Amino acid sequence: MSDALYILSGLLLGLAFQGGLWFFAIPFAVISAVLGWLNRPRLPSSPVSGSVPVLRATRDNDSTAVGRILRSMPQTAAHSDLRVAFENEKTEFNEPTSKLKVEQIWSTVESELDTSLRYALQALKTLIPKTNTVAVFFPGNKRGTLVLRQFVSDSEAVVPHALIQENCGLVSQLTRSDIIRILEGDIQGGKGLYYYSGNPTIRSVAGVPILDRHRSRQGVLFMDSASPNAFDSAEITALNCIANSIYTMSFKSYASAKNYIEQQQFSILYHYQKNFFQNMAVKDIYGQIFEYVRGNIPYDRMMILAVENQKEGKGSVVWCDGVDRDLMIGQEFSLNDKGLVILSLMRNFPVERNFSGNPGEYVPRINEKEKRNNDLRYLFAMPIATESGAESAEIAICLESCQQNRYSDHEKELLKAIAGVAGFAYARARQFEAGKDLATKDGLTGLMNHRTLHERLRTEKLRAERQKINVGLLMLDIDHFKHINDTYGHPAGDEVIKGIASRIRDEVRGEIDVVARYGGEEFVVGLVDCSPEALKETAERIRKAIGDKLFDIHRAEQIPVTVSIGSFLVRPEYRDMKQALSFADKALYKAKNGGRNQVVEYIEYLGSESTKPETPSV
Ligand code: GH3
Ligand code: MG
Ligand code: MG
Repeated sequence: MSDALYILSGLLLGLAFQGGLWFFAIPFAVISAVLGWLNRPRLPSSPVSGSVPVLRATRDNDSTAVGRILRSMPQTAAHSDLRVAFENEKTEFNEPTSKLKVEQIWSTVESELDTSLRYALQALKTLIPKTNTVAVFFPGNKRGTLVLRQFVSDSEAVVPHALIQENCGLVSQLTRSDIIRILEGDIQGGKGLYYYSGNPTIRSVAGVPILDRHRSRQGVLFMDSASPNAFDSAEITALNCIANSIYTMSFKSYASAKNYIEQQQFSILYHYQKNFFQNMAVKDIYGQIFEYVRGNIPYDRMMILAVENQKEGKGSVVWCDGVDRDLMIGQEFSLNDKGLVILSLMRNFPVERNFSGNPGEYVPRINEKEKRNNDLRYLFAMPIATESGAESAEIAICLESCQQNRYSDHEKELLKAIAGVAGFAYARARQFEAGKDLATKDGLTGLMNHRTLHERLRTEKLRAERQKINVGLLMLDIDHFKHINDTYGHPAGDEVIKGIASRIRDEVRGEIDVVARYGGEEFVVGLVDCSPEALKETAERIRKAIGDKLFDIHRAEQIPVTVSIGSFLVRPEYRDMKQALSFADKALYKAKNGGRNQVVEYIEYLGSESTKPETPSV
């Protein structure tokens, strides 16, 4: 019947071009409408096995556990499946080292699932011998589309991975929520099926949706036959049973793969946990956080912010990787700044935001001073606090991506886990460093203390003996310091001591030379690998750096301060460091007696009682 109508409409269209358009075009339109009606998908009048409540749930906002698991699964390029694709997926700045393993797990799952699907389809085909092709379709990357995942067929013409567009042909009808089966007893050819190349002789089809536990559509199971009216309600029942088991099969495979991956990632966390507690330095903690995140979580930019000065609420970006790294690293902030990561630090609460990419809608991550980058459209900030439940945090990990809604619950859980471990380790490291500082450093100036000085001088001396080099010793004492204390008060005296420490530090080689606060207002400097000339020069330079510039004591006036310096050059053959220090002290005594604000060197060969003024008093 429909064949005859096709021929008639073709004839009428031909005539329409030959002669009066309206006379022929109207009957042509009528015939086309009749054809369309005849070819509509036909549904059986009554459901085959009870009514199936069908819910139309779009997968993007399906917030059920299943929806979340399916959404978080990565998409492979070769074929589509139950998993939802990330549109325009691209690789991130970092390539998590664990990603390779993850890919391996997914590809094993995929191939095992393909095998199971093939067995199921083969069973169906054997049970219903009239079938030509039995096929399973899973959702494609684009919403509403389906992709042929597996099939068993007598025909050569099936197109592997065929894409069924939305609202196109019989198969796509099954993505609609109101259609629970397709049963066509008499159709003409396989053209409208879109999984064949050409037009093989297909006369009947049957199909059902693959539904998940929440009755959301996760795919389609479809079969066709070359015979008319090949399928009936019994076959539909069989299809439904197989569709059910296909769902269970694929869901279970994906869920177990996902569990396995999570297990792997948490076991890596355990490994890092060990590292955290072996590394006691605060700096190492930042490094460990960075290593862990880089290895396990994809990002386009990662920053670690630390509130280094708790009292003043100030800190900086201590680590950065990815986009604009060089511009962000070291960037300073205060807890009053209006930035999303600062908010996370202040509230000790994770912050997650998506951005439109529109320059007008940029929200600062740290503060107004930062370089704005509108390509980064997603931010997740995880605070790290040294005490659980603290009001504010000391560190925050900030991860950004060019893709919106980048992280699944699993990634957020991993970050939470690392934050817990890192917070605890950080607290310990800080305590340890504070204790270490207390034992080795002078609290007022930050210079090494008396005890550490002797240890350092001993090691430097041993090295110097091996390398046959000299160590220069300087002993400094502030001139008339009692007077400063008496006139301006002790706090002002302390400011002078701090100022002197910093001026000495500025005149020596930071990592090489030794500077210590020896007593109340006395300092010792050890100059490693020092020539007789360098000893004189350095001592004089320090004396000048102190005496030539006024000191700020946080008062209206600035005050002049001078020091006297005694020096002694410890040659390699000279062993006794204690005595060496006493020689320098003797020289200092001479400098004081000589009028102060001068350097006196103790010359060994002149005998222990002799010192020789090197620099006349100024
Ligand atoms: P001189 O030129 O001979 O060295 O005279 P001076 O006044 O500096 O005498 P001396 O070196 O004996 O001074 C030591 C004084 O330094 C005594 C003490 O009150 C003061 N002092 C020691 N430690 C501190 C400190 O930590 N802070 C302050 N403000 N004063 C200190
Ligand atoms: Mg003194
Ligand atoms: Mg003094």
